[in-house]
Amino acid sequence: MVFKFFVSTTPSTLPLSIVIPVYNEELNLPTLFARLYPVLDALGRRYEVIFTNDGSHDRSIALLKAQHAARPDVTRVIDFNANYGQHMAIMAAFERVRGDVIITLDADLQNPPEEIPKLLEQIAAGHDYVGGYRLNRQDSLFRTYASKIINFVREKTTSIEMTDQGCMLRAYSRQVIDAIVRSGAINTFIPALAYSFASNPAEVGVKHEERHAGVSNYSFYMLIRLNFDLITGFSLAPLQYFTMFAGLCSAGSFVLVLVLAYMRIFLHDDTNGVFTLFGILFFLLSVTMVGIGLIGEYVGRTYQVVRARQRYFVKEILEAKE
Ligand code: UDP
Ligand code: MG
Repeated sequence: MVFKFFVSTTPSTLPLSIVIPVYNEELNLPTLFARLYPVLDALGRRYEVIFTNDGSHDRSIALLKAQHAARPDVTRVIDFNANYGQHMAIMAAFERVRGDVIITLDADLQNPPEEIPKLLEQIAAGHDYVGGYRLNRQDSLFRTYASKIINFVREKTTSIEMTDQGCMLRAYSRQVIDAIVRSGAINTFIPALAYSFASNPAEVGVKHEERHAGVSNYSFYMLIRLNFDLITGFSLAPLQYFTMFAGLCSAGSFVLVLVLAYMRIFLHDDTNGVFTLFGILFFLLSVTMVGIGLIGEYVGRTYQVVRARQRYFVKEILEAKE
């Protein structure tokens, strides 16, 4: 890569870090705190929880600050100046985690904190990346089926294999997190990026609950954007398919032009004058499409290299000094 971000990782000084992105979750945070901390305390190992407030408009940041005051030893809060999206919120925490093992989960309790030990077992068994897949997914039919389609497209266009890309309850080893941070990726899909850096990934079924309160933060448009990032961020297949399709059109219309020319010149069949014009037009049009496809290909490749820009802005960090 030509351009590089000046991102670095924080040395690991703890066994476990929990990373939670928060966007307008005031109704869920009290229950999340009440369920999460006892699970972590019961593990009997030192840990930290990093919340990233992703530009919430509700009382989320006030609740996070209160939680930091209540458990300053184990709670850290990153406060963004604006909304940068779930995956950037996670990324900012990854850049600051101190744990050897890092676990992500959602703040809305769709990923039950009680499932964390299951993931840790798999890490203890030697896996460097453990992805959760949702048993009995509790989402709308539309979301569930849309996920199935995008899973299929992802399988066909990238080399990423996972049962349930949308489940954010996942555990990562330090090496995988370091690689993610060093990649300096923007507009990325973290579970897929992690998979590409893992050498011994595993999957485990985890419970899924309905959103505890409030509604999903993902609008239809944001879901489309996210899935676009998933496909275009990990493969140039869409561009390549387009170019191939344009090539086929071009070949087909060239044959059409030849047939029409033969009929006109050798069979003196003039009834197809308009079709001849159409034939030529189709041919030129498909040549243009090949051209656009090729340009797109190069733009795509350039884009992969030049994606250097400030990814998020941190307003404040609340943490106990080490
Ligand atoms: N989230 C975020 N920034 C956003 C959207 C969501 O930090 O712009 C967080 C949100 O607070 C939650 C997680 O990402 O912890 C998943 O979001 P949500 O539950 O809305 O998504 P869904 O479960 O519907 O996919
Ligand atoms: Mg949710």
